[in-house]
This record gives sequence, C-alpha cells and structure tokens, in this order.
Amino acid sequence: MATKLPSAPRVGMVSLGCPKALVDSERILTKLRANGYDMSPDYAGADVVLVNTCGFLDSAKEESLEAIGEAIAENGKVVVTGCMGKEADVIRARFPQVLAITGPQQYEEVVSAVLEAAPPVANPYLDLVPEQGLKLTPRHYSYLKISEGCNHRCSFCIIPSIRGDLASRRPDAILREAEKLVAAGTKELLVISQDTSAYGVDIRHQPREWKGQEVRAHMTDLARELGKLRTPEGQTPWVRLHYVYPYPHVDQVIPLMAEGLVLPYLDIPFQHASPKVLKAMKRPANEAKVLERLKNWRSTCPDIAIRSSFVVGFPGETEEDFQYLLDWLEEAQLDRVGAFRFEPVEGAAANDLPNPVPEDVKEDRYQRVMDLTARISAEKLAAKVGQTIEVLIDTVDEVPSLPAAGEGRERGHFDGHLDAPHPQHHHEIGATGRSKADAPEIDGEVHLRDAGGLKQGDIVRVRIEDSDEHDLFGVPA
Ligand code: SF4
Repeated sequence: MATKLPSAPRVGMVSLGCPKALVDSERILTKLRANGYDMSPDYAGADVVLVNTCGFLDSAKEESLEAIGEAIAENGKVVVTGCMGKEADVIRARFPQVLAITGPQQYEEVVSAVLEAAPPVANPYLDLVPEQGLKLTPRHYSYLKISEGCNHRCSFCIIPSIRGDLASRRPDAILREAEKLVAAGTKELLVISQDTSAYGVDIRHQPREWKGQEVRAHMTDLARELGKLRTPEGQTPWVRLHYVYPYPHVDQVIPLMAEGLVLPYLDIPFQHASPKVLKAMKRPANEAKVLERLKNWRSTCPDIAIRSSFVVGFPGETEEDFQYLLDWLEEAQLDRVGAFRFEPVEGAAANDLPNPVPEDVKEDRYQRVMDLTARISAEKLAAKVGQTIEVLIDTVDEVPSLPAAGEGRERGHFDGHLDAPHPQHHHEIGATGRSKADAPEIDGEVHLRDAGGLKQGDIVRVRIEDSDEHDLFGVPA
C-alpha cells in the first residue's frame, strides 16, 4: 500500500511595500517551503498568515495596520514581519492578539515564529524547494538584491535607521543566485539595492572567485558578469540597473550598455535639481555637471533610457527652486519620470526644516511636473513610431471567447470545435510587453496586436505603429 503523506501546514502571505520587501517575502517563503510548509492562496485555507509590512511612509504604515487587522479578522493567527516590525509597540497596542512581530531581514525569527504557530509535519518524501527558490514575481523576471542598508542620510528618509548601514552581498553569491534564476526561466534580472552604485564600498570591493577568475564587489564587475550569463535558449538575459546614483564610476557602465551586456537603462533617483534643495535633502552624488554627463552617456550609448523620480514641495522649496527643476527637466529630456509630493515621514530629519510648502502649492507643482514630463515622454515615444524594437512579453490575452451560435456563424468564426481556437482568431489576440526602456510596474508598456502564438517570457521584435504619453503600440515584425 502506498504511504499516505501527511498534509503540510499552510501559510498565507500578504506582501506589502517595495520590490525589496517582495524579495524578502520570496526568501521567507523559500525557507518555509524548505521547512515543509505549503502556501495558501486565501485566508480560509491558511494555518497561519504572515504579513510583510512596509513602514516607509505614514500612509504605508496605515496600509500595513489595515492588512494586519484584516488578516486577524479573517484568520486569527497572524505573524508580522518587515519594516513596520520596528514599531512593535504600535502594532501590539492596536492588535494585542498578533502572535509574533519581527523586523526586516529577520528571516530566521520569522521562520521560528511560524514554526511555533503552526508546527510542520515531518515529510521525508518530498523535496519542496525548487532549485531557484519560490518566487512571487512572474518567472520571466526576477529581482536581484545586491546589498542591504545605506550609508547616506537623506533628510527625508528613514531607511538607514530601519535597515542600517550598507551591507553588500558577496559577488559570487549574487552571481550564483542570478545563474540559478536564469537557468530556471528568468529572462530579466532587476538589480536592486538602496544604492546600487555604492555596491561593495563596505567590503572594500573585495574580489571573490567566480568561474575561475576574480570578480570584484563592484557595480561594473557585477554588471559585466551578469551580462555574460545565458538563458537555456542561449540568449543574453536582460539586466536592468535600479537605484544608481551618478557617482563618477557610473560612466564605466555605459560602454557595457553599448556592448549589449546590460540594458541601456538607468534608474537614477535624482529627487530634485535645485542645488539648494538637494543640499537640504542631503542627497548623495549631488554635483553640478549632471546634464553634461547625461549628454556624454547618450553619445556613448544613444539608446540609453533614463528614468528618475522627483519630490516636489520639499520644505523650503521656493517657486524659483521649482522653476529651476522644470528648466532642468526640459533640458535633461528624461525618458521616464515619477513625481511625488513631499510627505513627512515620522522620524525623518526633514520634518524639522523650516518653511513647509502648503498642500495646494505642492499639488500645483506636482501637476506642473507631471504635465511637462508627460509631454516629453509623449514626444520621445512618438519618435519610436516606425522603428522595430525588442519586446519582452509579460502577458498574452486569452483566446477570444467563442461567439454564441448563430452570431459566430454570421461572422464566419465558429467552426464547431469548442476545444481549439480557430486560426482566424489568431489575429485578434493581443499581448502586453515591455521594451528595454521599460521596467516592470513603474514604466510604460508595449501593446501588441496579432500576437497569437506568443507566450510570456518571449523576446520578440515588434514594429511600432503608434504611441501615447506612456505606452507604445505595435505588431510582431
Ligand atoms: S540614498 Fe538616501 S533616500 Fe536612498 S536609502 Fe539612502 S538615505 Fe534613503
């Protein structure tokens, strides 16, 4: 008689916050799977619910508290982790029934809290951990975290007080993780950290052996090695660099983009342009000549797409400072821009700065930045119409539903085979993907028509037929 395997306890996961928190959730789930747990897609089927919180902005904290409240109401057994775990008192005051509270990256503590709340069942018959670990992001792209923490002290930010100073991972460990992800189907690696250009500073760029040669813990070395990986189909995976500050050595990465080893894309959170505001923000790599460097980067790598984010309404920002920002943006011609209205975060030094900007002025400046950057984006995208570009497919539409009998016959679509799409439907199938200039979830998309036969993770050539403020529209070439 076959051995009846005991059923594993099930964990529900609510993951809030930024891509870095998502990576933490993936790591926790991988460890739980290794300890014999199954995942539950809903509250009802879970033996315990894990809420990975975000504590960056007050609005994010409130969202985290709401998520904890919902998990308690729906399930009752709740373990809290993540950035808000630093404020255990606030959580306990509102939800005394929470079983355990742990902070960010306290993987071992989270796992032991779950072990206690819903003890695992020994199961020697199953190896539950897939080679690449359990992932929350779609299989065709993965976040690759290269360091924790940050050595800067930007006045609006509390991340260093939550996550501590910069702590870089070993380059060989990062490359091994990347290699596994790519072997398991990842087509795009999104390199993340709080400050990617500072990678390795804390470990004095100490080299490690990788594939028979020394690789320094340095952004340039890492980017080059990531660009040498190959998918099982022999393709170069897309490597996208996020949170890069324009330190001088960033110039060395641009030729790697021109060579095709990493994507011609840089996510640089400039946050402002006015030297006075940048000084008050205590931003890193705050030097003049950024516009000149953008120009040089574009002459080395004409396709480079620059994305950035900006804060408007920072305390003390005058109309003159704001106008400086608008003029700078007009000249910089960035490809992708996100804007935020300044929001004081509990514990941030900026909260004590004089001359807060009234809400209506913040709103007005926000609209003006959005209007300007939408126009620049629309112009840049319009210039791509007629070009053929590479697109990574994120989703392919379902086969269109078969028309009702009668209706379909009139249109000549219904062929009587309910289980197979009629070839004529192929041209109706759409798909959505991204160009090299578009990071998932934060940038634009490319909408395809006549996409029958494509699947998620394909990299295809697309002829661009149309554009709007944020997106492109095209057809497989
Ligand atoms: S660079 Fe500044 S904003 Fe970014 S994590 Fe460090 S302190 Fe915060």
